[in-house]
Amino acid sequence: MVRNRALRRPVPRRLPQLVAGTTVRALARRGKYLLVDCGAGTLIVHLGMSGRLWVVNDATPATVHDHFDLVLDNGAVVRLRDPRRFGLVLWQAGDPLAHALLANIGPEPLSPAFNGGALHAATRRRSAAIKLVLMDSRVVAGVGNIYANEALFHAGIRPRTPAHRLSRARCATLAQAIRKTLEQAIVAGGSSLRDYVGSDGMAGNFQSQFTVYGRGGEPCQRCNATIREIRQGQRSTFYCPRCQRR
Ligand SMILES: [Zn+2]
Repeated sequence: MVRNRALRRPVPRRLPQLVAGTTVRALARRGKYLLVDCGAGTLIVHLGMSGRLWVVNDATPATVHDHFDLVLDNGAVVRLRDPRRFGLVLWQAGDPLAHALLANIGPEPLSPAFNGGALHAATRRRSAAIKLVLMDSRVVAGVGNIYANEALFHAGIRPRTPAHRLSRARCATLAQAIRKTLEQAIVAGGSSLRDYVGSDGMAGNFQSQFTVYGRGGEPCQRCNATIREIRQGQRSTFYCPRCQRR
C-alpha cells in the first residue's frame, strides 16, 4: 500500500501490482539499502534521514507520515514512517546489486573483502584527506562521520593526512580500527544523538563511549591534550593532536 509516492525518488506506480502475491525469500542489506527479495524482484528500501520501519498489525491506523506498508498475509504490516520523506522505496527486477544506486558501493567494512590491503589499494590515487576518503561509500560502505572520527583516533591517524600517504601497515591498523569501532557500536545499539532507536525501539548508547567525537575543547582521555575540532567537507572533525600526530 502506497499512501505517498513523493519520497526522495517517486515510488514506482506499479509497485503494488509487482509486489502483490510474491513471497519474501530473504532479507539483506548493502550499505544503507535494505533488500527484500521477493523472488520476481527486489524491494529496495532506504530510510533516508528520518525513516523507520515498524511492524504493526493491519488494524493500526496510519499517521500522516506513514507512506508505505508492506502487508503480509499473517496480518502483520511492515510500515515505513518517514517525516522528512528522504527515504526510498524502489523495485529492481533481477540482480538488486546491479541497481545504479548500489552498483558502485565499496566493500562492507565487516566483510573479509575489507582489510588493510584493500584500503591501501583504494587509497593510492586519492590525495584527499583520509577522513573524507573513509566517508566515500565507493571506498568502503557505511562509515559515517562519527565512526570515521573514532576509528582515526584508535588508529592514531590525523584526519587531514592525504590518503595516499598512508603506508600499508597504517592502512591495516586503520582497517582494523574501523572494524573494531563498528563492532563496539553495534554491541552498544548504535549512537543516539537525537532520535535514533534500533529495531527494538531502544536508543543506542555508543555515544557514551566516544573518545573524540563531540569532545572538542575537552581533554583527551588517553593523553590529556585538548581535543581539536575542525571542519572537513561541511562536517565536524575531532582529533587529538598528540595521539594522532600524522
Ligand atoms: Zn590524546
